[in-house]
Amino acid sequence: MPRVVVNPERCKSCEICVHACPKECLKIGEETNASGYFVVRFESEERCTGCLICGEMCPDLALQVWK
Ligand code: SF4
Ligand code: SF4
Repeated sequence: MPRVVVNPERCKSCEICVHACPKECLKIGEETNASGYFVVRFESEERCTGCLICGEMCPDLALQVWK
């Protein structure tokens, strides 16, 4: 099953991946990183297709997609 691994310290909470995911698998979480940004959270292995869009869209290379 595909999954997305977030590198929390790279995330700047820009929400690009949240809006780019066609399956609504990503949400801004409630935990902050060392820079004070709310870190994005991967929420659904069931819906994720491993399409790679989120990983390609993140300008900070914070997401790794595993298939
Ligand atoms: S696109 Fe990258 S930096 Fe922006 S919210 Fe998603 S993981 Fe964080
Ligand atoms: S790999 Fe595709 S479906 Fe999975 S979280 Fe990223 S954008 Fe969404």
